[in-house]
Amino acid sequence: MTREWQLVVGLEVHAQLLTRSKIFCGCPTTFGGEPNTHVCPVCLGMPGVLPALNRQVVEFAVRTGLALGCAIQEKSVFARKNYFYPDLPKGYQVSQYELPICVGGGVDLTLDGVERRVRLTRIHMEEDAGKNLHGVAADGSSGVDLNRAGVPLLEIVSEPDIRSIDEAVEYLKSLRAILMFLGVNDGNLEEGSFRCDANVSLMPVGSTVLGTRCELKNMNSFRFLRQAIEFEVRRQSEILEGGGRVVQETRLFDPQRGETRSMRSKEEAHDYRYFPEPDLPPVRVPAAWIEEVRRSLPELPRARAARYQRDLSLSAYDAGLLTADRETAEFFDASVRARGGGAESAKRIANLLTGEVARLANDAGAGTSRGKLTPEALAGVVRLTEAGTLGGPGIRQVLEELFRQGGDPAVVVASRGLAQVSDESAVEGACDAVLTAFPGEVERFRAGESKLLGFLVGQVMKGMKGKGNPAVVNAMLKRKLGA
Ligand SMILES: [Zn+2]
Repeated sequence: MTREWQLVVGLEVHAQLLTRSKIFCGCPTTFGGEPNTHVCPVCLGMPGVLPALNRQVVEFAVRTGLALGCAIQEKSVFARKNYFYPDLPKGYQVSQYELPICVGGGVDLTLDGVERRVRLTRIHMEEDAGKNLHGVAADGSSGVDLNRAGVPLLEIVSEPDIRSIDEAVEYLKSLRAILMFLGVNDGNLEEGSFRCDANVSLMPVGSTVLGTRCELKNMNSFRFLRQAIEFEVRRQSEILEGGGRVVQETRLFDPQRGETRSMRSKEEAHDYRYFPEPDLPPVRVPAAWIEEVRRSLPELPRARAARYQRDLSLSAYDAGLLTADRETAEFFDASVRARGGGAESAKRIANLLTGEVARLANDAGAGTSRGKLTPEALAGVVRLTEAGTLGGPGIRQVLEELFRQGGDPAVVVASRGLAQVSDESAVEGACDAVLTAFPGEVERFRAGESKLLGFLVGQVMKGMKGKGNPAVVNAMLKRKLGA
């Protein structure tokens, strides 16, 4: 590279809202289903029908706007975005154009320990289009499935504030986590309910004049987003260094080849001929309603992670793991409440939840579910550990049983004989037996081979079938050996 280039990225996210019915009719929004079974005259775009706005869509937009620090507009307007495509039978998409429901706001990120804020331009509401299905019919012909037509979307547009690929990924992850915490979106990239387009350009390092951008589409995973931007940086820097000019265009990412290719240039770009939707009155959001929605906002991931670090002395890493999704954060909070201990107990709960319990869920393909384990039961396991009743392998076995079958940890420990033996006389008996059985090792230990203590502890544990309390065994052996 003969010259240093600065990457500039702006992201447009389309998030499907988790309403039960579509934005302008009563059809269900459920993913999948036989093609064209979740449709009616309104979402099919039949002539003479009237759309009726779903109130929950507006509420979710307000909720999202408030969580992201946007200004909620008391009046916003739906507009027709006109274009022809087979998956859009009306010939226009109902969206918002000049007067969106939310403006401003931003997403706060921490990247390599540095705090950053990516500003938002706007958030608006719109309807999704249908889907073209190619080669699905018996004769190999294409079809159109309109089940998705009219599913409500939020389009969240960022300013071109992003300066690295890591920042772009972090922005999307943070935004996705916030939407999921708010309960407005399921965050599913593969099924396309959370999708993103990236506006990518380069400018000379130190410049403040943005270069010509290309819009990248079709990246349905964080990995593909990374690959697409990487490819685009190489492509654009080669053009610029060869003295050429980047052409403003839309480019489609091809996951098979790991590259982007031109879809349409600015010259052939659509002129959407937006105009206000005559069938829908302006959307009015009274200030009192905004305040009501504000009061119902949950504690968001960053605030939660900060609280875990401040009040429970957890590391930034642990706090991040625990706030990656709402289920985990709520399970953690409920467990800490049930245990009622201080920061030490919270740390133990965090370790079990992000370690052993996460492993069990992963093995069972249970995602963020904890099987039949309840917060109360996890708190019980920690209580038994702190009382010295449970240790090492016993903890694992109890958690496994609670995950599969549920139940009370104390009962599981008793019925499966998993309690640790801390009783001094039982431990003493086992130690004496080992000292008698290994006189040679005892002599060598006394002569200075201190690492033999580990061997002797191991033998005692073996004699106690792994149930000896390691702390008690260690102390007892040391005392008997005069160490
Ligand atoms: Zn419908």
